[in-house]
Amino acid sequence: MLERQVAFADMVLSNGRIYTVNPAQPWVEAVAISGGKYTYVGDAAGLGSHIGPETRQLDLQGRMAMPGINDVHSHPWQGGTKVLYGCNFAFSATPEEIADIISECVARDPDAQWIIGGQWTSDFFKNHELGSPREWLDRVSGDKAVYLEDDSGHHGWVNSKALALAGVSKDTPDPAGGVFLRDTNGEPNGVALESAKTVVEEVIPQWTHEQNVAALTEAVKRANAFGITGILEARTPPSVSPAYATLDQQGLLTTYAITALQTPRGKRDTAMDVAPLIEISERYSSEHVHTRFAKIFLDGVPTASRSAVMLEPYLVNEEFSEPTTGMLMVAPEVLAEDIAALDRNGFTVKIHTAGDGAVRVALDAIEQVRSRNGRSGLRHQLAHAGYIHPDDIQRFVDLNVTADLSPYLWFPRPIIDSIIGAVGQRAYHYWPIKDLLAAGVNVSIGSDWPSAAASMDPWPALEAMVTRRNPWEDGEQALWRSQAISLEQALEIFTRYGARAYRLEHLTGSVEVGKSADLIVLNQDLFSVPVEKISETRPELTLFKGTIVFETSH
Ligand SMILES: [Zn+2]
Repeated sequence: MLERQVAFADMVLSNGRIYTVNPAQPWVEAVAISGGKYTYVGDAAGLGSHIGPETRQLDLQGRMAMPGINDVHSHPWQGGTKVLYGCNFAFSATPEEIADIISECVARDPDAQWIIGGQWTSDFFKNHELGSPREWLDRVSGDKAVYLEDDSGHHGWVNSKALALAGVSKDTPDPAGGVFLRDTNGEPNGVALESAKTVVEEVIPQWTHEQNVAALTEAVKRANAFGITGILEARTPPSVSPAYATLDQQGLLTTYAITALQTPRGKRDTAMDVAPLIEISERYSSEHVHTRFAKIFLDGVPTASRSAVMLEPYLVNEEFSEPTTGMLMVAPEVLAEDIAALDRNGFTVKIHTAGDGAVRVALDAIEQVRSRNGRSGLRHQLAHAGYIHPDDIQRFVDLNVTADLSPYLWFPRPIIDSIIGAVGQRAYHYWPIKDLLAAGVNVSIGSDWPSAAASMDPWPALEAMVTRRNPWEDGEQALWRSQAISLEQALEIFTRYGARAYRLEHLTGSVEVGKSADLIVLNQDLFSVPVEKISETRPELTLFKGTIVFETSH
């Protein structure tokens, strides 16, 4: 009779090079999994008592394994709908290519009222002389309304039909926090910046619940194939929370999902009503869906649209003769009120802050909230935060704020060219990751797919954090090379720190006994391949809570 009854494992994996991202025990050979959790992490010799007659045994054959990736800023719902229902073209598409693709989409679905698609690059209208973008689109769109998003996800390009359906004409004033670009006669030219695009989006028929579920299913499948087992939906409209719940009930939600609930976009004079967010959060919260998160847009993007809020003005040139510093979407006092109300109700707030000016306004607001509410323990997040004034880095630590960076933006290049055109030399001081880590800031990372990044693939971004170079280009050109970090640091950001940003550090993000068995087995050993090959990494096996959710067939 055994003194202590050891429950046999459901599965054991052995003969691996398993990188745990647990500093106390970084490398192990074997793990045992039971009930979705690790019950043993260590050398092969210790596995014996965990193996019973029913235990599935997997030989890793020396391959590297590690915790699943956490993508802390993504748009799986938008990405999924784009993949399944969008009229899509590459960021690099020329006007001729776009015209061909739209004509095809028009012909493919004769009954559709709307053509929804994208994404044109931020410098598209600078690089191509189209005359009126609206009239150009009218010529290829038949009788359909067309709405095409840009690569930042902040701006839209629409035709006359779409503007008419949205009730936008020459006499329509610009909405707060947005601009309809106009012809010389004042007629909207078809390009809608920031909240102006929302005016059009509001009249686009919503996808059905079934379509939303299908879109999320597709996105989760893709995430698992990249090795992602935790994903944060960075703007979750009210219609999308029920879709996550359905996915979960059907057993198709094979990642942890963190839903940052959408808040009203555009300028307000008074603080938001948090009651509807509390209701949604409570109704759709589950073991796999973490809903106590909210998203606020504070500024835009530092591209040709010049809508990110910068401390120093954008470049002045022929086209832009006035020095401007961008568009603040929420007044600082209102922002502080909003964050205070959300913080009091237990919401972690993700604030879109693309410019260093917006970063400062957000830190000021959080400072106010900390003194009013006390320390809630919630680590609010500044999203993108590519530009941070050196004086503000320590404030992230003092105010316990997470930097949610998106270095997937290193590629494709076109959006970076647009940023250089708008802010000049400052564009080369993007993502001070090394300085943030050295100061002790909570750093997390996200793809922002399908905005700016053509896919959720985390591996090229991992490589770029180590090299600061575009993984798909040869040559020595690097972006602020002194901010390069080690592979160990980059892996920590992608796994353990991501879990911390989700407030799930007790549950996932490293390979430790008692934690959720979210493990990926890789096609190559990250620590032995040349660093330029990291971008070619592919998981061969993805486990979520001890269940195989992705496997390559060979
Ligand atoms: Zn985003």
